[in-house]
Amino acid sequence: MKKFLGIFLKNEKEINVLREANRRVSIILDALEEQIRPGIQTIELEQTALSLCDRFDAKPAFKGYRGFPFAVCCSVNDQVVHGFPSDRMLVEGDIVSIDFGVVYKGFYGDSARTIAVGSIDESTQNLLDVTRNALQIGIETMMIGNNLYDISRAIQGYVEKQGCSVVKRFVGHGIGRSLHEKPEIPNFVPQRYTDIPLKPGMVLAIEPMVTAGRDEVEILADRWTAVTKDHSLAAHFEHTVAITSNGPEILSRSHPEHGQGRSH
Ligand code: MG
Ligand code: MG
Repeated sequence: MKKFLGIFLKNEKEINVLREANRRVSIILDALEEQIRPGIQTIELEQTALSLCDRFDAKPAFKGYRGFPFAVCCSVNDQVVHGFPSDRMLVEGDIVSIDFGVVYKGFYGDSARTIAVGSIDESTQNLLDVTRNALQIGIETMMIGNNLYDISRAIQGYVEKQGCSVVKRFVGHGIGRSLHEKPEIPNFVPQRYTDIPLKPGMVLAIEPMVTAGRDEVEILADRWTAVTKDHSLAAHFEHTVAITSNGPEILSRSHPEHGQGRSH
């Protein structure tokens, strides 16, 4: 595989397989989203994801990854990422961030959404809207001629203007034959950085994690679940995106023919 500054550049054939992998992720996320309502336990989402992986000839990407015990990350309310599916019952007004990935024919797909459980209050809806928009705004900067940190700058600038915070502990990433490849894509601009020009064939998972309060997170005793230190609500949206000479293509969609109007 061709490389640029240590970053794998995927050819058309490889992007076709990545599209297939990510389409499966998106179809399964659609099914999980459909299932979410007050009264379900988050472990039910794990069971659905596993059975759909079987049906779609895909392997769950997260189960066993660095010892993560589940196929799906279910992070509720002040949990930011990497929450465990459990017998916790979702109640009206909760939000749940579902992060899911598969391997298909040797290539990875990765996508996440935060979903409202029943009706949620206005400030919670605002957090979801800001995070979903931040992802879309980040993706729109993925044009040839721009640099990697233009994505970071666009996301951070938008989120902070809305009075929310971007989480700094976790970042987006290249994706391909591995779940996490170079480069890292922070949702903020660090004090020192070396920028990288965006090139056709780069495939990047862009994933703003946004809180309604401060950006500090801590990890629970299970050694995975990240929660906001101030217990403010957190949201997470992620797409796997290919950079082409015609602009960004979101691969993690269930209906690619719908174009780029919506982030899912
Ligand atoms: Mg993910
Ligand atoms: Mg990811």
